[in-house]
Amino acid sequence: MKRLFLILAVAVFAVSSAMAQAVHTPTMGKTGIRLYNHPSHRTEIILPQVKGYNIYKGDFHVHTIYSDGEVTPRERVREAWYDGLDIIALTDHLELRSYEKFMLKAHAPYNPDGKPYEYIRGGAGHKTDPTTPIYCDLDATYEEAVMYKEKENIPVMVVRGTEIWRNARTIGEYNAFFLKDITDVAKPDIIESLKEARKQGAIIIHNHPGWRRNTMDKSPEQEEIYAQKLVDGIEVIGGTGPTLYPQMIDRCVNEKLTIFSNTDTHRTSAQYYPRGGEIFRSMTFIMAKECTEKAIKEALLDRRTIGYAANNLIGEEMWLSEFLNAAVECKVVAETKKGDRTFQLTNHCSVPFVFRRGNTLYTLNPFHSLRVNFGKNKETGVYKTPKFIVENMWTVGDKHPALTIQIDK
Ligand SMILES: [Zn+2]
Repeated sequence: MKRLFLILAVAVFAVSSAMAQAVHTPTMGKTGIRLYNHPSHRTEIILPQVKGYNIYKGDFHVHTIYSDGEVTPRERVREAWYDGLDIIALTDHLELRSYEKFMLKAHAPYNPDGKPYEYIRGGAGHKTDPTTPIYCDLDATYEEAVMYKEKENIPVMVVRGTEIWRNARTIGEYNAFFLKDITDVAKPDIIESLKEARKQGAIIIHNHPGWRRNTMDKSPEQEEIYAQKLVDGIEVIGGTGPTLYPQMIDRCVNEKLTIFSNTDTHRTSAQYYPRGGEIFRSMTFIMAKECTEKAIKEALLDRRTIGYAANNLIGEEMWLSEFLNAAVECKVVAETKKGDRTFQLTNHCSVPFVFRRGNTLYTLNPFHSLRVNFGKNKETGVYKTPKFIVENMWTVGDKHPALTIQIDK
């Protein structure tokens, strides 16, 4: 009993001294004591090199106060850095600008007659009217973000984009990014808008394809858009409560389109993904040589992506297997008397893996190791290599892939 108390006392001391480290040294000012100095904090998401490529982390769908978001462009840039991203595309709606009404009112005193311009609401959601007059400069979001990023030297690539939002039940929504001029994309006809985006060299993705729809089949309007080769990728995972559309993995593979996972965040990401939590914001992992516009565009068009959302990884089986094998080190550490081998698996990346073997689940947490035994193949007498169903990976056919982990040489 005495001994247990001693152990507890040591444990309490260890915990309290660890907490003490988190308390910052106060700084004496002339009139007050600053209890905490507040440097900026970034969550570093450590990912492996895969097939000679670095993995860059991008979110290609966010909104700001210049459409219906609640965050300024500059805060989006800071937030992207805090959240561990390398790339962010600002994609305010072409047609839906809820804050415009307030801005028109606020700026009324500067108008010649002192009255606010008439605000004509385009209508919410599926009734959005593309002929709504545009009073604002649609490129202002991007320009403000870039100006701020350069001034503060924030190492996040900011991409000029927009969300084209028409009838959700028939046409759907599309993001175009790496644009040159957003205002030019605003055209009444969706095909004309997408063609203009294409002309500007943009990448175009079909957003949250199941949203406000009863089927995942293409509508006639969507058939037309796809047939005209106006789609490069699909938001297979979308939204702040991330929704996975499993059939879209198949569509991406069958039609050679790129898999994306984006937040479509309208409020601050801190609301949805608490800082210091085990789940990062949804993002697209991009396997590219370097973080330049050219290399990232090339990687996206070459479909070198994996979608990440809530510690799930979504992609083509080949890339999932490459990712797993790049992240996990596998060593034979012992042989048992029964003739089994003991393998030690070490996860060197920030994403956990959930392995299933029969009815047994193993979670290999980030920067942890686990040991597992595998015997010989009864027929061939050859030692087995660790193979699992990876429960937090999703691939074609709405299934979790069965992947082998190669033994490190
Ligand atoms: Zn959106």
